[in-house]
Amino acid sequence: MKRLKEILKSYTKKLFSDWHSAIIALIVTSLFLGTGAVYIFFQTLWLAIINTILLPTPLWASLAWGLLLLIYVYLKTPKKHSLYHPQSESFLIEDNDVKWKVTHKNNGSFTVDDNPYCKYHDTRYIQTAGGQYMCPDVIGSKCKSRIVNDDEIELLHKLAKSKVEKHINQYETKC
Ligand SMILES: [Zn+2]
Repeated sequence: MKRLKEILKSYTKKLFSDWHSAIIALIVTSLFLGTGAVYIFFQTLWLAIINTILLPTPLWASLAWGLLLLIYVYLKTPKKHSLYHPQSESFLIEDNDVKWKVTHKNNGSFTVDDNPYCKYHDTRYIQTAGGQYMCPDVIGSKCKSRIVNDDEIELLHKLAKSKVEKHINQYETKC
């Protein structure tokens, strides 16, 4: 059994080196002869493949193993595009006459922007010198959205957070 293994090993080695040098020789030859030699190159390659298929099973199997190993290495190599997956998604929810920006991260956690958004314009509220939060369009009195006082903001933010928590939990249990 051990001897058989050794014979196989040396035979496979020889086969691989033969293949290696044969392919290199073919590439070099075709490069020298120009594109006209491509046909001959493929014809020779085809004959080589046919010969390999007709070889006894263990050698053919070792070639297949080599191919499988290549496929395995290819599949195990991390793909570049996986780096470009979005890390989070953002959306607006309405609560207590204002909107809140929720960022739901891929790890399941979420954050709620501590600044409200206008429920009509989806614009981020601005803080006035007096400490009030309002839609930028309120200044031209075009927007009838709620004006939030400085002392209300913390409570409203907490309420929005608990609503989001409930919503996300419901969403996740539904799946
Ligand atoms: Zn507005």
